[in-house]
Amino acid sequence: MVDFSFTPEQEALRELARKFAEEEVEPKVKLMDEKDEVPMDLIKRMGELGFMSVLIPRKYAEDVPHAGMGHVARTIILEELGRVSPALSQALQIFHLGHAPIIYFGTEEQKERWLPDLATGKKLSTLAMTEPWGGSDPIGSIKMTAKREGGEYVLNGVKVWITNAHIADVIGVVARTGEGPKGFSVFIVEKGMKGFKHGAINKGIGLRGCNVGGIVLKDCRVPVENRIGEEGEGLKIALHAVSNVGRPGVAATALGIVRRCLEEAAKYSKQRVLYGKPIAELQAIQWHLTDIYMDYQISRLLLYYSAWLRDMGKRADAENAMGKFWVTESAVRCARKLVDIYGAWGNAVDKIPQRLLRDAIPLIAAAGTNEIMRLVMVRKILKELT
Ligand SMILES: Cc1cc2nc3c(=O)[nH]c(=O)nc-3n(C[C@H](O)[C@H](O)[C@H](O)COP(=O)(O)OP(=O)(O)OC[C@H]3O[C@@H](n4cnc5c(N)ncnc54)[C@H](O)[C@@H]3O)c2cc1C
Repeated sequence: MVDFSFTPEQEALRELARKFAEEEVEPKVKLMDEKDEVPMDLIKRMGELGFMSVLIPRKYAEDVPHAGMGHVARTIILEELGRVSPALSQALQIFHLGHAPIIYFGTEEQKERWLPDLATGKKLSTLAMTEPWGGSDPIGSIKMTAKREGGEYVLNGVKVWITNAHIADVIGVVARTGEGPKGFSVFIVEKGMKGFKHGAINKGIGLRGCNVGGIVLKDCRVPVENRIGEEGEGLKIALHAVSNVGRPGVAATALGIVRRCLEEAAKYSKQRVLYGKPIAELQAIQWHLTDIYMDYQISRLLLYYSAWLRDMGKRADAENAMGKFWVTESAVRCARKLVDIYGAWGNAVDKIPQRLLRDAIPLIAAAGTNEIMRLVMVRKILKELT
């Protein structure tokens, strides 16, 4: 049997996320974009509403609403937030990314230590992998070192382009503990540890109001109890998190953009009158509308399918890569079409089309570029489908 319907709980969650986005987030979107200010009050509200807890098993988040609802539920929240504020959606999805190494690879003790506070938003998190020398090639480019000294590791190095870097309390850091692909480990570095400093903000053209920046570790001493998994398992753990949580999270944010483009394009083309009739009656505009509509429907099918695979406990690396590739490219394509439909007004700074385009562009590189998504997909094609 194939069933494309959402459960009543998932429908209720969508309604809640949409209400929050429209009533509480929308009034702040313009200011976030203009000032690039992180809305800590909205982040606190997301914790209260239970949006942080969706991937965290109920056992560690007993009284938190929506705890453990899973990947489909998470996609619903991110799509609804992305429709109104891709910046806030991206911040939330990276909090989930920061949870992932602990959820999937942490010891019982580590889960009990960190997950309850992460589930409520009392503590915020991220995952720091990228360094200035090239995110696509972690084996060649990660220079941050972690040297064991008794019961501690001493970390030295720099991370860049880390979402939530300056607001996170609990940061999964990938550092070099040896040579080759098995020469990396993941450590939980906590804000305030000696030797921990924030680096520069990485200012982008879009997603303004979502903090993205650097982390600098200088002789930062991290207890061995903060290492997630065994020494040498770091790349496996980090890539598992990026593939299963980071990529679908970026894609779900982009899905919100595509949805918003569809709504705004339909609305504007019915309002704008040329030659005595709405431009919606011009065939060229209708083709733009159908292109955006197709992008939305295809993106939606792809993302909810890959989220469902994860909820069923199935592997979905190629599907997650395909979703990330397709939906982020769709978001840029659809936002560009929306700019075109608006004519000159599409680039006006107080109108939505240019903001959606600026928000869509950085999603192409986040969680791995779309060239890298092709490499992930081709592995499946050559291994399993030939
Ligand atoms: C908004 C935003 C948020 C981010 N958040 C985080 C975060 O929270 N944590 C984190 O660790 N990182 C984060 N990143 C970093 C992101 O993961 C990297 O930008 C990404 O991995 C690419 O690395 P790079 O920018 O160094 O590009 P490079 O790796 O230098 O790539 C340069 C170009 O070469 C291409 N290329 C590389 N290898 C190949 C190949 N084998 N075949 C074909 N082409 C190739 C790339 O596609 C790209 O076009 C974020 C980035 C952005 C934009």
